[in-house]
Amino acid sequence: MTQRHICHPEGLPKCAAGHSARHIHDLRGLAAGGGHFIECQCQASRRHPEPDAALAEWRRINRPFRSARRVLPAIAAPAPDTVVQMRLLMPGEGRVDSG
Ligand SMILES: [Zn+2]
Repeated sequence: MTQRHICHPEGLPKCAAGHSARHIHDLRGLAAGGGHFIECQCQASRRHPEPDAALAEWRRINRPFRSARRVLPAIAAPAPDTVVQMRLLMPGEGRVDSG
């Protein structure tokens, strides 16, 4: 094998399915199918001459914030200093005039 596993002590982003990813450097030339790529058990990036490019593609194809968008719009809790004021009906207001 001409493949080398590159360690990332800081950890690589997991794939969208949650698999841990590995950075592989294939020592063959790009033309021979070598280069840097990131793979997990379900997918792999393309090969890149630069490790950073492989990482960038990995992040792009496994965007974690794509699923973050599913989070419901925040139902804003009232700020502690926000007092909900009941609006008092003024005399005559709210009266239904039917004619
Ligand atoms: Zn995966």
